[in-house]
Amino acid sequence: MADFGFKLSKSSTLDLDKVDLKVYNLLCKTDPDIKTCMACGSCSATCTAAPFSGMSMRKVILALQRGQDVRPMLGKCMLCGKCTMVCPRAINTRHLILSICKCYD
Ligand code: SF4
Ligand code: SF4
Repeated sequence: MADFGFKLSKSSTLDLDKVDLKVYNLLCKTDPDIKTCMACGSCSATCTAAPFSGMSMRKVILALQRGQDVRPMLGKCMLCGKCTMVCPRAINTRHLILSICKCYD
């Protein structure tokens, strides 16, 4: 294939009829503040683990809303709580991370 100096990203199209939202729906009951996330990225910008691990609470929440497995990302969190302090929607993200872990137990 010719090298044009750029690559096309993999399609992120979802078939919403096939997405399993079991974990997200469970979290909406245990941690209803997850529903108020506006994907601003403040949590990711201040994350202690982000610079060396790619951890992003914003991506975790978006992945949950898309029915994707977030376990690989959760292992990078250090539970420092900085994301909770900066969230403009006052989402208790640190508690949310622990709740997500419980969903997969
Ligand atoms: S800072 Fe709060 S509202 Fe913004 S992306 Fe993170 S969790 Fe969502
Ligand atoms: S608690 Fe986890 S996600 Fe939040 S800032 Fe700390 S390392 Fe990042």
